[in-house]
Amino acid sequence: MKVCILLFCCMLGVQVVCAQPEETINEIEQAYPAYREASLTHRRFKHADILPLVQRLQQAAAVEVRELGTSIEGRAIYQIRVGSGPVKVLLWSQMHGDESTATMALFDLLNFFTAEDEFTAWKKEVLTKVSVYLIPMLNPDGAQRFTRRNRLGVDLNRDALRLQSPEARILKAARDRLQADFGFNLHDQGRVYAAGRSPQSATISVLAPAYNYEKDVNEVRANAMKLIALMNRRLQGLIPGRVGRYNDDFEPRAFGDNIQKWGTSTILIESGGAPGDREKQTIRKVNFVAILTGIHAIANGLYEDEQLEEYERIPFNERLLFDLLIRQATIELLDREYLVDIAINQWEVNDSSPQGFHFNGQVVEWGDLSPFYGYEEIDASGMTAEAGKLYPRRLKNAKALYKLDAQQLIQQGYTHIRMKKLPDPLPDTPFVLLDKQARYQPELRLGSAAHLLLKRNGEVVKVIKNGFVVWEKE
Ligand SMILES: [Zn+2]
Repeated sequence: MKVCILLFCCMLGVQVVCAQPEETINEIEQAYPAYREASLTHRRFKHADILPLVQRLQQAAAVEVRELGTSIEGRAIYQIRVGSGPVKVLLWSQMHGDESTATMALFDLLNFFTAEDEFTAWKKEVLTKVSVYLIPMLNPDGAQRFTRRNRLGVDLNRDALRLQSPEARILKAARDRLQADFGFNLHDQGRVYAAGRSPQSATISVLAPAYNYEKDVNEVRANAMKLIALMNRRLQGLIPGRVGRYNDDFEPRAFGDNIQKWGTSTILIESGGAPGDREKQTIRKVNFVAILTGIHAIANGLYEDEQLEEYERIPFNERLLFDLLIRQATIELLDREYLVDIAINQWEVNDSSPQGFHFNGQVVEWGDLSPFYGYEEIDASGMTAEAGKLYPRRLKNAKALYKLDAQQLIQQGYTHIRMKKLPDPLPDTPFVLLDKQARYQPELRLGSAAHLLLKRNGEVVKVIKNGFVVWEKE
């Protein structure tokens, strides 16, 4: 009995010692809304949107802001330092201009580190052990257009050796000047990836990039792997089953691979897809917690005893997801019926509208798609899928449109309506509105626009317009 009690106490003791940092990060996670940078609300913010944030940080005590240089079009790229410890951590985000999730998280982290609050003592302790250098938005010209590449049209992540872009030279110089112990290479990945062979999207993918074709593991890379193993445990609490491992093939021109090679333990974080989070505001918070967990673990050497096997157990990314997957639909071709699954992606197309983009729904694959999954799925067993018809009358204006009996038109198989002039703003309607010139394509095939009807026993039960279900029979 005595032994049992003693053992119990020891276990309790161990738990208390181990749980403390974990608990603090849990508390910080609870307090996250206070640190969330309120001026950044969606992914398409620009360099001009982060300038006031950088200026504010220039006024903050214990923060050092340094202009490292400018992009091809002359936009300033900044390095922001917090902490004064001997271990150096370098984080850079948005080298691909349309990958902005982590940039938001970096400003949230800076808000956290500069706030005076109940975590001040905790932060002070961490920041006496590490110096954290953040380079948010490494590719501001790409961010301006929300494109991957820079103004030269070069992928900065293939310019680590040739260094033709000023943005690439800035990152290389920062790494070399600091000789950082740890590096966080922060990106976004497409929504197509699942975490292993599963229907769960890889909301976060991680990687300790290889530094040679043989994918050898030296101490530098091993430390990155161990840190990822530790971070993954916390991530599993936030997004269970939604952490993937990025392709670990060596890419000789990439920054992550080379920075690992140059002696900085490098951690790649890719923000992927999550159901219902197009603007990645939840994923942004997950980034915040993951990076903070990493910085805290680096400060206290908590990663050192982690097992490499824990890292190896993280399932690889699998390209298995579509935005909408319609399973087992029947289509008709030359008077015969065929069974197909229909995969639809809702592509984002940049435009000059206030939100900066519109969707372009497209049938991207079809046939037997049984190994794949959809963010949304429709079981169309016993249903036929077909393209809708063009309403025979041309309408004058939105008023004429509202006069129509939509339910009746849908049941008659109409999906498209031609208008003299497209109303502005476009009305909320289940019909595809065409202006004078727009072509009506009455086809449902691989590659076609994702406008279609699903029918059961000849009755329309769902209307899909531009890749989205816009009408359902009650
Ligand atoms: Zn990227």
